[in-house]
Amino acid sequence: MSIKKKIARKKAIDKKKEAEKKLSSRLMMFDKIPEKCLACEEIFDKKSKDMAMSWHVTVREESVRLFCPNCWQKARDVINEYHGGGGHNGENSERD
Ligand SMILES: [Zn+2]
Repeated sequence: MSIKKKIARKKAIDKKKEAEKKLSSRLMMFDKIPEKCLACEEIFDKKSKDMAMSWHVTVREESVRLFCPNCWQKARDVINEYHGGGGHNGENSERD
């Protein structure tokens, strides 16, 4: 086997290992997902596909935070306000 081929082969293995590492860390992360919304404490059903699709998980360093769609929306509103609402001035903003 030529050296070139050996290197290519090693690279391929490294890539595979890297992918496996990523996958396992993702699984680990999934294990760390809280059982309820951080803000309103609504219970998150890990078996529910709908919830898995609509709820939001944020990861910062080692801490995993979970938000239900309502709280996520509120958090985004706060962020938008903070950043000036993307050019709009929220003077006539409606409240529920
Ligand atoms: Zn919530």
